[in-house]
Amino acid sequence: METITNISSKTLSEKDRKYLWHHISPYNAKADSMVVSKADGAWITDNKGNKYLDAMSGLWCVNAGYGREEMAQAAYEQIKKMSFYPLTQSHEPAILLAEKLNEWLDDDYVIFFSNSGSDANEVAFKITRQYHGQNGEPDRYKFISRYRAYHGSSMGALSATGQSQRKYKYEPLVSGFLHVRPPDSYRRPEGQSIEEFNLHCAQDIEQKIIWEGKETIAGVIMEPVITGGGIIIPHQLYMKKIEEICNKYGVLLIIDEVICGFGRTGKKFGFQNFGIKPDIVTMAKGITSGYMPLSATAVKKSIYEKFKTSSEYGHFRHVNTFGGNPVSCAVALANLELMEKENLTERSRTLGERLAKEMEDLNSHPNVGDIRSIGFLMGIELVKDKDSKEPAPPSYIGSIISECKANGLIIGKNGDTVDGYNNILTLSPPLSCTDEDFTFIVSLLK
Ligand code: PLP
Repeated sequence: METITNISSKTLSEKDRKYLWHHISPYNAKADSMVVSKADGAWITDNKGNKYLDAMSGLWCVNAGYGREEMAQAAYEQIKKMSFYPLTQSHEPAILLAEKLNEWLDDDYVIFFSNSGSDANEVAFKITRQYHGQNGEPDRYKFISRYRAYHGSSMGALSATGQSQRKYKYEPLVSGFLHVRPPDSYRRPEGQSIEEFNLHCAQDIEQKIIWEGKETIAGVIMEPVITGGGIIIPHQLYMKKIEEICNKYGVLLIIDEVICGFGRTGKKFGFQNFGIKPDIVTMAKGITSGYMPLSATAVKKSIYEKFKTSSEYGHFRHVNTFGGNPVSCAVALANLELMEKENLTERSRTLGERLAKEMEDLNSHPNVGDIRSIGFLMGIELVKDKDSKEPAPPSYIGSIISECKANGLIIGKNGDTVDGYNNILTLSPPLSCTDEDFTFIVSLLK
């Protein structure tokens, strides 16, 4: 089988076990991990020649699919023309990408580029705190987010994260990060309608603001749909109510689009499903479809204007060397152009609707508690039985994932949580899936 080098697959696996520290993987999990060596369309190939349809788009990011000539060409041309210059000055790919993102966001934002989703959220937190300071409210430093949400691995982003198993080994984290319950309608109290429950969840945020002292709250951060925490899709009422609460108390609304952005939910950005206008939008992953590292923090013009101050240290004192790297920006531009040309956002919506329809009859399976989807993003919550809704055990979820893999399909599951909700299968396939790919996913899952 062909590889970049002539190293045999056995030797490569041995070197992998010896030298590489895998991300968020148990020490002994490497024995059966894949060494991925090729990828094309929705398919990856490991170094033993096994092919898999990657229904998780890598790590929820390869929206335009693998192996696209357009992206390779954009990277090659930009490297030849101008491989690097920092954004302490400027360059054409960053300028054009910032303009294009504004078009996609459909409003007036200024764009700050970084490298990862975690970075983008850190930037959002720092801008928010400094904004309030410069707006004459320096006591506003706290952020509210939701349990089960993931916002990144760096200390601030991890503090905003609401998954305790990812955090507790690294605590104490950054102070001032508070959490409220997510709008998990499947597990709402008996007798409450979905609307009532979602409204109660939104009102939790208002209550938190009041109890904590409204003059101390800087921002609320949330994904439009909680993704890694189990595909928790709020009711329209919830997001509108939260926007209203944020406006009422002068709290900035930060929307984390790291997974939901770039067509994943059937709109360009996830928040566009809910008719809200966030103050800050963070994005990464799908911005380049995973071809290059890049992230962005989009900040409303009116907030940016507050940084126009005569104070010596009034500017945003944040820099990262590679944020907005010209090659990454050129690739992102090629990615967005390709998505527009191939109508991938629209395809996400139609494939998602088809998937939801195809999966409907799985609802009668005794261990399927709930199937949730928006765009080409789905969560299948597995339970021991439908009445108790007790989560199905990890061994059951694990056996389904292994069975799928053995038959050539990679699917995911929500992050382990100590509250027991690690029972949700996740699907986030490339939006460029062909009809044959789609049929393969559906028939195998069923
Ligand atoms: N926000 C969300 C919603 C994420 O899912 C992730 C990563 O999965 C992040 C932020 C952090 O992004 P990164 O891993 O690029 O730092």
